[in-house]
Amino acid sequence: METLRKIKTIVISSLALCAVAVSASAQDLLVEQAPLDKQMSLVDSISLRRMLLNEAHLFPSQELYPEWSNARVHFEVERPDSFRIDLADFVMPTTNTKITDIYGYRPRRRRVHNGLDLKVQIGDTIRSAFSGKVRIVKDQGRRRGYGKYIVVRHENGLETVYGHLSKWLVTEDQYVKAGEPIGLGGNTGRSTGSHLHFETLFMGKPIDPALLFDFVNQDVTGDYYVYRKAVRQVVDKATGKVKVESAEAKYHKVRSGETLSKIAKKHGVSLSTIYKLNKGLNSRSKLRIGQSVRYN
Ligand SMILES: [Zn+2]
Repeated sequence: METLRKIKTIVISSLALCAVAVSASAQDLLVEQAPLDKQMSLVDSISLRRMLLNEAHLFPSQELYPEWSNARVHFEVERPDSFRIDLADFVMPTTNTKITDIYGYRPRRRRVHNGLDLKVQIGDTIRSAFSGKVRIVKDQGRRRGYGKYIVVRHENGLETVYGHLSKWLVTEDQYVKAGEPIGLGGNTGRSTGSHLHFETLFMGKPIDPALLFDFVNQDVTGDYYVYRKAVRQVVDKATGKVKVESAEAKYHKVRSGETLSKIAKKHGVSLSTIYKLNKGLNSRSKLRIGQSVRYN
């Protein structure tokens, strides 16, 4: 019995000692609490920043693009009404300044040229115009399309395409810095004479690279370029030159008793314009109440 009491006393006293020890370290903690909090928040913001940066590296411009896919160069996606593309941190894809073909419709071949061609020699270094992540590294085959090509998605929202390369220096999903060599100039694909086919895309849609880059002076056209959905690049089929014109689509909601000619007259456009803007509408079309008819 006596020994049990002794043990109890020892246990209780050691528990009391423990309590003292805990409260002492708690005191220490309290003393260090304030600067520690500051340190923690600093660490937090650094790690948060690093995390966000990693995220940007993982999926550049993911606020614009619904997915990351290595499949297609061009695609349709809902684009914002306007978007400011930051051009500041650029590097010219090649030091060559000779433009051998411009963007736009080529009447002779009856097709649209989605990019701009620059003279390069086989083996010339081709650099990524901005930092970003390599989305596509593919070969369209001998005498076909781009031949060996690369598509990079950038943090400024743009994508750039580099075609007719002789060699790739990067792989898909690789992060590249602005100016990093990504390939070597060549003559692969549908190409006569070595050149770089350079394309600039915004959310799957080509933009004339000359609107962004001044190839002759090896510079960008400004610190930024504002993409506007309501602005259409119209190619003059006779000259092949690109005109930028407003093309904000406007719609008329059909009300009871209205005809296409009444709607055309109301908005001061011709019936043929209405037919042109609305696929499937013709002189025999019956209108529904509430139907949207585009008139501009
Ligand atoms: Zn081309």
